[in-house]
Amino acid sequence: MSDRIKRLAVIGVGLIGGSLALALRKAGACGEVVGCGRSRENLERAVALGVIDRFEQEPGRAVAGADMVVLGVPLGAMEAVMGRIASSLAADAVVTDVGSAKMAVADAVRRTLGGHLARFVPGHPIAGTERSGVEAAFASLFEGCSVILTPLPETEAGALARVGAMWRACGAEVVEMDIAHHDQVLAATSHLPHLLAYTLVDTLARMDDSEEIFQYAAGGFRDFTRIASSDPVMWRDICLANREAIGEMLARFSNALQDLAEAVQGGDGETLLSLFHRAKAVRDRQIKGRTLSAED
Ligand code: NAP
Repeated sequence: MSDRIKRLAVIGVGLIGGSLALALRKAGACGEVVGCGRSRENLERAVALGVIDRFEQEPGRAVAGADMVVLGVPLGAMEAVMGRIASSLAADAVVTDVGSAKMAVADAVRRTLGGHLARFVPGHPIAGTERSGVEAAFASLFEGCSVILTPLPETEAGALARVGAMWRACGAEVVEMDIAHHDQVLAATSHLPHLLAYTLVDTLARMDDSEEIFQYAAGGFRDFTRIASSDPVMWRDICLANREAIGEMLARFSNALQDLAEAVQGGDGETLLSLFHRAKAVRDRQIKGRTLSAED
């Protein structure tokens, strides 16, 4: 294929970076894959699992000669990594990231990769699991999922097309979105639910009889809280990177929760029933039966 990647550099060979490398190899859409991260053990495991061909622990060395560079690190590490690759990128290299919030990434790109803005394509695969590290990576992760690209005003059409082709080779559907809109939508659909899951588990854990409570936790509790097993560093970084949109969603949800508390405490069955009917109808129509991706 004409969009075939000759040398792919993946900085952050974890669930997302590792799965992308596996999917591209499976599709025959890339040649050599160079991985980069801090832990030698994770990178050696990535070679053993056939995720990458070789690795470098210095990001600048990892991107040398690569025509496609994917930043798969937590959001809090993005800017430092960008700073370390800036002077080593090939002039025609396309750079993209997979971070779960996009405004913070765009701001970091402007501060660090000014000379490469035209060839930077912010991206976010709406796929994942609550697991992390290269051991969690699998080739089919992105099949049938959406990948949102949020090009900068400076992003060249050719770079955008190459990143789109890369994700389509993994079986994903590619859509474009405005950066601020992406952050608002994801605050509602992904970031808020993760915070609710973490808070629910933490609230119960801090009750005196928490041991007994968890002993009787059934399927509903497990379904609702599975995502509270996600990586805490990643979620701290997402909250910090998308604090404005998440703050708005938390305020909106707090109001709704307050209304719910009043209805429960006031024995207002009519309000409760109509809320549950409304929510069930929306969920049945919008979500039930659709295959959902786990993270994001
Ligand atoms: P992950 O499995 O923990 O992988 C992150 C990788 O980055 C690790 O292999 C880690 O290896 C490496 N890393 C961390 N800090 C680094 C640094 N300072 N320099 C170089 N490498 C570093 O996490 P993930 O789930 O793949 O998430 C990665 C990115 O994808 C995040 O930005 C996240 O917002 C986004 N995302 C996640 C999901 C999801 O469901 N998990 C979905 C969509 C997007 P070392 O510790 O060895 O350095």
